[in-house]
Order: sequence, then structure tokens, then C-alpha cells
Amino acid sequence: MKSHIGLIGLAVMGQNLALNIARKGYKVSVYNRTAQRTEEFVKNRVTNEEIEPHYDIESFVKSLERPRKIILMVKAGKPVDDTISQLLPHLEPGDLIIDGGNSHYMDTERRFKELSEKGILFLGMGVSGGEYGALHGPSLMPGGSREAYNLVEEILLEIAAKTEDGPCCTYVGERSAGHFVKMVHNGIEYAIMQAIAEVYHIMRDVLSLSSEEMSSIFEEWNRGELSSFLVEITYKILRKKDEETGKPMVDVILDKAEQKGTGKWTSQAALDLGIPTPSINLAVVERVISHFKDIRTRLSKLYNKRRSATQGSEEFLRDLRNSLFFAMFMAFSQGMWLIAEASKEFGYGVSLSEVLRIWKGGCIIRAKLIDTLRRYISNENAYLLENEEVMNLLKGKIDSLKNILKASIENEIPVPVLSSSYNYFMSLTEERLPANLIQAQRDFFGAHTFERVDREGVFHINWEEGE
Ligand code: NAP
Repeated sequence: MKSHIGLIGLAVMGQNLALNIARKGYKVSVYNRTAQRTEEFVKNRVTNEEIEPHYDIESFVKSLERPRKIILMVKAGKPVDDTISQLLPHLEPGDLIIDGGNSHYMDTERRFKELSEKGILFLGMGVSGGEYGALHGPSLMPGGSREAYNLVEEILLEIAAKTEDGPCCTYVGERSAGHFVKMVHNGIEYAIMQAIAEVYHIMRDVLSLSSEEMSSIFEEWNRGELSSFLVEITYKILRKKDEETGKPMVDVILDKAEQKGTGKWTSQAALDLGIPTPSINLAVVERVISHFKDIRTRLSKLYNKRRSATQGSEEFLRDLRNSLFFAMFMAFSQGMWLIAEASKEFGYGVSLSEVLRIWKGGCIIRAKLIDTLRRYISNENAYLLENEEVMNLLKGKIDSLKNILKASIENEIPVPVLSSSYNYFMSLTEERLPANLIQAQRDFFGAHTFERVDREGVFHINWEEGE
């Protein structure tokens, strides 16, 4: 019997995805560049599942029913192109390749075009949820042609995470829409993680709370409107002890945050498309700053932070909770706006409400807040703020955020994402920004012209005439 589907790339994601598919009753052929990885996978993890290992591409392709459906879970970048090149001589028009890695959307755009010219169907599919999600139900964001999606819809819906609003998979949109949406998902993830880290920083260095105390607070928050995967893992992380030293695990982890690039890509795309995503941008920048540990250590000796220990009152903790909610909201606001603009610019045809729906389960940014966002999102209100109920919700948090920003300044704690949420909101709600002065400066030194508030047209004056 031929396999229903094939999967190439048996690192952590590929192994778990293959097992997930097989456990839903499908026969899966697998292949990995390095044979040893395939052997170990079959030996250590495959039990009753119908998983057929192959050690050369040709026999792998031959083992698949027609039209062939092949998922790639290889490292993003050149490995995807290399694997596609190896596959092509063995494929025929109508076969389908699904790239499930974190590919850059521009690469997906190119591959879609190149493969379409050869009659090969292609889906660029974002997969979120890490190894647990891949095995038990990820959030899947496939983009490409509808025809291609229809070929695998049944399998994808079965393996995806389930919520009361359906499986966490939908046809996201044309060509590279799936990978664009996955990229922005990761950008939002960066901003929320940084906001949580800033709240943790204040709890640790201003309130002098122990890890256990912080864990209990995050655990309690996770039962309310902040309920989310990232808050949940934070309270679990904070209560974990290092077996060697007995210290909280977080205290023995070096404060240098790594990144694989998807946050940076989101900021780059946002700057290119002219959409403000300050929380995402600053979350990326703060990871970069974290890398300069040596410089930070030297400078910390030259500048002694003024910090006054504060008691963690009920009000202060409420303010912290409200500030985190506000920052989470702004991260989604910025990300959704960016997706809406990309959909318009690139003709993706993305449904914003559907994107939020498939982020309700399986993925890293799943959060109770998404239900609220879905009530108010539309293409005209992608940034989510243009609604009286939303405004009332946010107004209820703003004093808290101001208190936390004041306390951060008072104690010289960096809070780039919390403060950028505030500034983003305050800029968008300001009718008269000081950009008039910037226009005047541009016209002064570069004759860049300006518009006037009292009549139509484009103007330039000689600023020093009559000085
Ligand atoms: P990974 O470390 O990104 O990639 C390792 C896999 O790529 C191995 O199977 C490796 O084969 C293969 N590979 C590398 N270079 C290759 C080449 N030139 N030709 C053919 N195969 C090559 O694995 P991963 O963490 O499982 O992630 C897979 C994809 O999913 C990535 O795009 C990743 O960004 C994305 N993703 C990961 C996560 C996560 O939580 N890890 C979550 C969502 C999405 P060999 O065994 O031969 O080296």
C-alpha cells in the first residue's frame, strides 16, 4: 500500500509531526538527509504507527500515492531549496510540496512562482506550537493556492489543535500568506515575551519577590484575562529548581536572549510596508542588547542604578497585571495591522478573524484575549482600537500602565516594550503630533516641501529670507 503523505526532515518538528499524522490513521513515508537520524527515529519513537522509512529520495517519492503530498520540515533557507531540487526530478505536475518550516515569506513567494511554472503545487505553511504542538496538535497556517490546500485539507484539519471554534488550521491566503502570517505570529510572540520579562524584572528588582512568589502571582493571573500559554509557562518556569544548586532555574540561566530571525523579519517587513510595530521592534532590539553582556557588566560598574525597594501592594500588582494586558493588546494590534496591510499590498486575501481563530489553540501566542480581539477585528479596524468598548477596556488599564512606567523610571528599570505600548497608543490617539515641525526642518535643509493645514497644495519657502 502506498503512503498517503511523505515527510522530509526528521529533527524535532518533523519527527513529532510525522507521529501526529500517523496517529490519525494515515500512512507516512519519511526521509532525512542523514540516514542515522531516520534510523534512530524509527528505533526510538515509532511503535504502532504506520511510518515507512526511506533512505533515498527516489524510493521515498515512489512510495507515495498520487498526486504526491510531501511536507518539508528542514532548516529554513538553502536546505529547503536543496531539498526541492532533489525532489523535482522525481515529481510530476499536480504533485504538492508543503514547506512547514519558518521560511522567509519572500523565499516562499519565489518558490511558489518557480514551482507553479513546473506545474508543481506548493504550500508555505507556518507551524506553531513547538515539539509538543507538532505531536499533539499545532496551529497550522498554510498559504498557497486553494487547489493545493484542498488536497491536504482533511489531514491538516485532523492533526491541528482543536478549540471550541474549530481546528486551528485554515486556508490563510494566496502564495506566501501562510509564512507571512507565521512570521508576524512570531513577532507578536517576541513582544509578549519581552513584556512578561519586563514585568518579571520589576517584580524581581523593585519588589524583591522570590521566584516562588512571582510564580504564584503569574499562576493567579493565568486564571483571569491574562490567561495564555506564555503566562502559563512563565509561572511553571519560575517554580522550577536547578537540581545541581537548588536555586531557581531562572537564576542560573545567563541573561543573553537568542533569536532565529523571525522577529527581525517582522520588523523589517513592517518598516517596508510602513506599518508601526514598535513593541515588536523593541523586543528584537532588547534581545540584541542582552547579547552585550560584557559591555553591560562594565557599564553597570560606572553607573549605579538608583533603586528603592518597594513593597508589593495589592494595587501595585494590579497595575502590573493591567500593564501586561495593555502591552499584550498592543502587540496584537500592531501585528494584525501589519497582516492587514500585507494582505492588501500582496493580494493575499487573508481573513483577520480566521487568523485569530487558528491562533486560539496549539500555538505559542494562544491567549484568552484572542476572543476579545475577534469580536472587534475587521479589515477597517485591523489595529483594533477604533471601537468604543475597546477604548473603554484600555482606558481602564491606562492609569495602571502610567503608575508602572513611573515606578520603572524611578527605579531605573528598562521597560522598552511596556513603554512602547504606551507611546504607540498615545501617538495613535493624538490628533496633533509634532510632525509639523519635522516637515518644517525637512523643508529648511532639503527643500522637501510641506502641506498646509489651511489650504491644498505642496509648499516650499525660503526659511532664512529676511533673517
Ligand atoms: P532544524 O534544526 O531547523 O533543522 C534540522 C533538519 O533540517 C534536519 O532534518 C536536517 O537534516 C535538515 N537539514 C539541514 N540542512 C539540510 C540540507 N542542506 N538539506 C537537507 N536537509 C537539511 O529542525 P526543527 O527545529 O525540527 O525545525 C524544522 C523547521 O520548522 C525549521 O524551519 C524551523 O524554523 C521550523 N519550526 C521549528 C519550531 C521548533 O520549535 N523547533 C517551531 C516551529 C517551526 P540532517 O539530519 O541531515 O542534518
